[in-house]
Amino acid sequence: MSESTVTNHALSPEAEMLELVEQTSAACKAMVAHCADQHAAELADYFYNGMLQYPQASLFLDHAIVHDRLHSSMQRWLRELFGHPHTDMAKLAAHQLHVGAVHARIQLPLHLVTRGARLLKQRFKQRVPDYCTDNATHLEALGYISQMMDLALELMSSSYLRNTEREVRSDEAYRLFSMGQNMAVERERQRYALLEWSQEALFTLHRPMRPVMLPRLSNAEFGLWFTHKAAVVFEGSPEIQFIQESMINIDTMLLPQLQSLSPQDLKSNELIAELQSLLEGIKFQLSTLFERQLEVENGRDALTRLLNRRFLPSVMSREIHMAQTQGHSFAALLLDIDHFKVVNDVHGHEAGDMVLQQAAAIIVNAVRNGDFVFRYGGEEVVVMLVEVNAEVAQRIAENIRKQFEANEFLIGQGRSVRATISIGLAMHDGHPDHQYLIRRADQAMYEAKSSGRNRICIAK
Ligand code: GH3
Ligand code: MG
Ligand code: MG
Repeated sequence: MSESTVTNHALSPEAEMLELVEQTSAACKAMVAHCADQHAAELADYFYNGMLQYPQASLFLDHAIVHDRLHSSMQRWLRELFGHPHTDMAKLAAHQLHVGAVHARIQLPLHLVTRGARLLKQRFKQRVPDYCTDNATHLEALGYISQMMDLALELMSSSYLRNTEREVRSDEAYRLFSMGQNMAVERERQRYALLEWSQEALFTLHRPMRPVMLPRLSNAEFGLWFTHKAAVVFEGSPEIQFIQESMINIDTMLLPQLQSLSPQDLKSNELIAELQSLLEGIKFQLSTLFERQLEVENGRDALTRLLNRRFLPSVMSREIHMAQTQGHSFAALLLDIDHFKVVNDVHGHEAGDMVLQQAAAIIVNAVRNGDFVFRYGGEEVVVMLVEVNAEVAQRIAENIRKQFEANEFLIGQGRSVRATISIGLAMHDGHPDHQYLIRRADQAMYEAKSSGRNRICIAK
């Protein structure tokens, strides 16, 4: 196989990988497969040790479980990528995409991935000569290893980017959501500020003795709010640009022209009409802007008013990052109401809903203001307890459990039901992947269920 026969730049990386495998001689592939198999453990070691020496990477690797998993999955990855014969190329490509998605989830910087791949490639190439009988096979093998790794990396990066964008979008939604708590109040305030400016401007215009300069909209309260705050909070909204342009238009074109007219000429002047129409436009765009923002309020679950679970990754990534850099610990609780189906079956769905609302209130009241409470599923709640040690986390969980046990849940018409709760508690143990923490809490919760319910189990 020569280099020139391989590279068809119009192909997708998946197709290129397939072509590369098809065009590489069976002898070469078999030899590389054997070499990869023999050295998989050593290569994984080399990779891990090389990366650990790099401070930025150690943040992601310095964890016993990451070590064990990564070590074995790295070996599996090498054996799969260079396996011979390749039985399922589509699966091989899909696997690379999956790895890229995991990297995105733990926010592993892309340059660390390329660095790791470079280390592996280097070492692998050093091992190849021992397995080659002639020069031609050696050359072919070097090209094959290089291109196979590069294509794998290309696939990983493509899904990394897609998934990172998704994470960023939900981070963004969260940022807006947290700022948007007072959106409705803010909207009224800014509507009023705009009205105030326009009244003052018109009033000033009609006064016989006018100041030399009319007040500029961009200097008024509305303008300042818009330039400094709205432009950041609503960044990227189409309305922003429209309002910006209208404001410039008013300040630099209309006001100077109006200023030059005498109060008598102002009557029935089209410039006034134009000013009013621009202000109407701003008002309208402002409403649309806030309207869209208020939709982010959907961030709260309609029934329980708890946080929507789509914010869970953002919040957890942030907490994991803070734990990594500042060294404090935090905990995840997964709570599930016991035999909740019975409440629905016996008393009806509406009664079930009422219990859920009261359950949410108990949980919210039992945690601190800085903690996060998410509706995770039907009758499942995830709580993120920030800056707690295991003892405090356990105390908070126990308090919730006791309150459920003692509470009478009202279900209307003077009736009430009892309900207990099972809780899985997992302390963040340094693992960079938030799904891993939730999985541990989930396993602990199932343990609480299977060992009798109405209890707390702590993840190992
Ligand atoms: P376990 O102790 O094992 O958790 O038993 P369970 O009955 O609570 O568990 P299961 O997961 O089997 O049932 C959960 C039930 O929660 C099923 C569903 O009808 C009910 N549910 C989920 N979401 C809602 C909701 O929004 N409102 C009401 N009323 N019920 C819900
Ligand atoms: Mg459940
Ligand atoms: Mg349940």
